[in-house]
Amino acid sequence: MSFDFKKYIADIPDFPEKGIIFRDFSPLVGNGPAFKEAISELAEFGRRKGATAVAAPEARGFLVGAPIATELGVGFVQARKEGKLPRATESETYDLEYGTSSTLEMHLDAIKPGDKVLVVDDLLATGGTIQATIRLIERLGGEVVGVAFIIELSELPGRDNLKDYDVFSLTTY
Ligand code: AMP
Repeated sequence: MSFDFKKYIADIPDFPEKGIIFRDFSPLVGNGPAFKEAISELAEFGRRKGATAVAAPEARGFLVGAPIATELGVGFVQARKEGKLPRATESETYDLEYGTSSTLEMHLDAIKPGDKVLVVDDLLATGGTIQATIRLIERLGGEVVGVAFIIELSELPGRDNLKDYDVFSLTTY
């Protein structure tokens, strides 16, 4: 039987604004066996795709990406908000679900030539955050072999926007 991840995801109506149901994965991260199972299933997807690196956007993506990288025995690549990385970067600006925009950056040497990258985040909504992360990886010479999430919101066009990639998620709303 498959693991009931939804038991560990809290639904918060009208956060951060009216009409949005915020899917909070804090209870999952806070539960040892549930977190371990989530990381192990996402890592298995990455293993099948032959990932040689794992990349994620801050901050919740780091909670998912770093343990997956450790489980696969590969390096972890940080996509950070503008101005946080100390060395030369590529940057990418994108629109957010809540009507504002944001910029992500990656160090120029974060991706090695020929890297096969598994891209992960906590949640897929419109796909804007993960598309920006993908564009950075590809511009730096990496190949995205798969994209994985704990939570996918199926009413938003995230999966359509990622139609060129193999997308895997543990739970769908
Ligand atoms: P998007 O770029 O639209 O795919 O948005 C994905 C990012 O926004 C993820 O990193 C989530 O952490 C956050 N996010 C967007 N919508 C929600 C939601 N309904 N509940 C929780 N987090 C969300």
